[in-house]
Amino acid sequence: SEVATMMDVPVTQVISACMSLGMMVTMNQRLDAETLSIVADEFGFEVEFITTDIEESIQVEEDAPEDLEPRAPIVTVMGHVDHGKTSLLDYIREENVIAGESGGITQHIGAYGVELENGQKIAFLDTPGHEAFTAMRARGAQVTDLAIIVIAADDDIMPQTKEAISHAQAAGVPIVFAINKIDRPSANPDKIKEGLANMNLLVEDWGGKIQSHDISAKTGEGVKDLLEKVLLEAEILELKANPNKPAVGTVVEAFLDKGRGYVSTILVQGGTLKIGDYVLAGQHSGKVKAMHDERGKKIKAAGPSTPVSILGLDGAPQAGDKFNVFEDEREAKDIANKRMQLQREQSVRTQRHITLDEIGRRIALGDFKELNIILKGDVDGSVEALTDSFLKLSTEEIQVNIIHKGVGAITESDVLLASASDAIIIGFNVRPMGNARQLADKEEIDIRMYSIIYDAINDLKDAMEGMLSPEM
Ligand code: GDP
Repeated sequence: SEVATMMDVPVTQVISACMSLGMMVTMNQRLDAETLSIVADEFGFEVEFITTDIEESIQVEEDAPEDLEPRAPIVTVMGHVDHGKTSLLDYIREENVIAGESGGITQHIGAYGVELENGQKIAFLDTPGHEAFTAMRARGAQVTDLAIIVIAADDDIMPQTKEAISHAQAAGVPIVFAINKIDRPSANPDKIKEGLANMNLLVEDWGGKIQSHDISAKTGEGVKDLLEKVLLEAEILELKANPNKPAVGTVVEAFLDKGRGYVSTILVQGGTLKIGDYVLAGQHSGKVKAMHDERGKKIKAAGPSTPVSILGLDGAPQAGDKFNVFEDEREAKDIANKRMQLQREQSVRTQRHITLDEIGRRIALGDFKELNIILKGDVDGSVEALTDSFLKLSTEEIQVNIIHKGVGAITESDVLLASASDAIIIGFNVRPMGNARQLADKEEIDIRMYSIIYDAINDLKDAMEGMLSPEM
C-alpha cells in the first residue's frame, strides 16, 4: 500500500504485479528489497535505498587531540585448544595481580579489568579464541588492541596457533606470545620460539621485535611479567580516548535474566557511560537503570576501556554491535526500530564481499587495490606452491595477500576471517567442513575449490586480468 501511494498507482495493481512474480501478498505486507525494485521497475520507477541514512544520523564527532587521554589496552587471548587460554584468563582473574581488591571477580560478564601493582590497567575480553575475535570483526567491531597468543611449550605450533596468528595479523593487532606450561618437565620453550622463527616471527630472545614470555598459567610463574610486556607493547600504540563525552563502544555479550531483564555487557571505548543515559545498541535501546562491574559492584560511571554490565535495554543486542548514547530517548528508540524493520525486510546487507567474478567490476570502480585470499589445501606442498604462484600474480595495481593459509578443511573460522577481511577462500583438494558452507552462504563469501593447481592459478589470473583491463 505504501509503495502504491508513493508511485500513485492503485494498490491492486501493485498486488497483481507481485502476483505475476509468484508472490501472494496482502496490502499491508512489507516487501523485500529485490521485490520492491522489480515492482517499482514495472511502473517505471527506480528504487533508491537509503539504509545508510539511519547510520549517518548517528553523529560521532572526531575528538580534538587536546581532549584525548591515555586509556588501558583491551586484550584478547587466543591460541590452540588446550594450550591454556582459559587457565591464563582464570589465573589473571583470580590471582592477586590486581592491586588492592583481592581478586574476587565473581561474575562472568564477558570481559574484565585488572589493575597491576603499579596502577596500570588492562581490560580482557573473557571469551578466548580467535573465532569470537573475528566474529566481532566480521560485524564491523574492532575492539581488541592487542592479542596474547598462548602456545603450550610441551606441544608444537598447532594449526589453530597459526590461525590465531593470521587472524591477529589480518586485524593489524600486535601479538605478545605467552609460551605456557613451562612447569611441565617436557616443556621446551626454545623449540616453540624456533618454530615461530621459521614462520618469520622473531621473538625478542631470538633477536626479533615480537614480545614473548615463558609462563605457567597453573603456577602463575611469569604471568606478571607477561602482563608488563603487554603494557609495554600497548605503550607503543599510544592508546587514547576522550572520556568527557557521551559514551560509545561495543557490545560484548547480552542475555535475558529472568529476574533482572536484559543484561548486556558493553565495553566503553570512548566517553563515559552514566546511569540514566539513553543507549542505542544494535536494534535495541533503553535507559541505563543500573551498571555493575565484573565484581558485581554497582558503579555509576564507566570511562574508556571499562567493561560494564548494564540493565535497561529492551532486548539483547548481539556481540559486536556498536552502542551510542543519545540525549533523546525517542531518537534512540526510533533508530533501533528502523534497524529492526530494515533487518526484517532483509534489505540491509551489512557488507558485500568480494567474489572472483566481481573483481573486474570492483577494480573498474577504482576501489579495489588488494586481493585477500585464504588458502586451504590437503598437503603443505600444494599450499606452498599455490602461495608462491598467487603472490607472483601481484601487479603494481593489485596486491595479492595470502592472509591465512593452512592444511586442512575449510572451517567456519576461515569463513569468519574472510568476512572480516573481505577475502575469498580457495580450497585445494579440501572442502568446507561442518557449518562452514552455510556460514559462507550467509556471509556471501566466495569459496572456490580446485584439484588442479594450474586451474586455480589460471582462474585467479583471468579474474585479475579482467580487473586490469576494465575497458574490455
Ligand atoms: P584452552 O583450551 O586453551 O582454554 O586450555 P585450558 O586453559 O582449558 O587448559 C587445557 C589444559 O591444560 C587444562 O587441563 C589445564 O589445567 C592445563 N594447563 C593450562 N595451563 C597449564 C600450565 O601452565 N601448566 C600445566 N601443567 N597445565 C596447564
